[in-house]
Amino acid sequence: MNSEKLNILKESIKNAKRIVFFGGAGVSTESGIKDFRSKDGLYNLKSKYGLPYETMLSHSYFRAHTETFYEFYREFMITDAKPNYAHEFLAQLEKDGKDVKIITQNIDGLHQLAGSKKVIELHGSIHRNYCERCGRLYDLSIVKNSTSIPTCPICGGEIKPDVVLYEEPLDERVVTKAMIALQEADLLIVAGTSLKVYPAAMYINYFYGNNIIVINKEKLDVNRKIKLQILGKIGEIFKSLNYFNK
Ligand code: NAD
Repeated sequence: MNSEKLNILKESIKNAKRIVFFGGAGVSTESGIKDFRSKDGLYNLKSKYGLPYETMLSHSYFRAHTETFYEFYREFMITDAKPNYAHEFLAQLEKDGKDVKIITQNIDGLHQLAGSKKVIELHGSIHRNYCERCGRLYDLSIVKNSTSIPTCPICGGEIKPDVVLYEEPLDERVVTKAMIALQEADLLIVAGTSLKVYPAAMYINYFYGNNIIVINKEKLDVNRKIKLQILGKIGEIFKSLNYFNK
């Protein structure tokens, strides 16, 4: 790994007062969760259902084929994965007193599991589920333990995961939080995302500074002037910084 680039990354983190880490599915691949667009990502697997998996993650598919949606969702979107070094590194920075806000496109809850408190989930979370009839909230177990469409034990209504499917709008309150965090930051780290999912990808334009560092397995074309791009796996890169070794 290029040690000059790693030094710039390390110094940038040390000197920053307010960091935003903007991440995607690539942040969780080292935990064993597939991303979508890598060679071995979900979208490049042959679908068991005769339809692209991308289509099955849409609101209209969820409405028309709820039972099959859940079959697919339980197999591919729900895992027992644990945080990897990337999640742990960011959580440790926060514990050490750095102002680190995480804006994630992920729905796996691994940043919180690692201990990060300031996590803005643009696309919701598999850990929050609600009854479409009475609005009661449920954790992941209601989906995990069902074999068909999960239903509310109180009113019998169908449960929907609080995740943003294609065709669904993002929660405006969450988007506002993300925009404010970006506007207040003096360092933006963009990592493990193809920046192909909109509108999420365009929010990085709310960062007005020049201090943008991109960490990704494949080269990313970012529509912005960036300070540095590091190619590689995010967890390995953070580990190689030896940041917490005094
Ligand atoms: P994507 O699949 O489109 O792109 C992932 C990017 O991360 C790729 O450019 C890939 O090269 C890179 N990458 C993979 N592993 C990496 C690693 N270890 N280190 C650095 N880079 C790595 O993902 P996206 O841009 O996040 O968009 C997909 C959408 O699907 C998002 O909304 C995302 O939240 C969702 N999704 C979430 C999960 C999850 O919650 N874990 C998993 C799959 C997809």
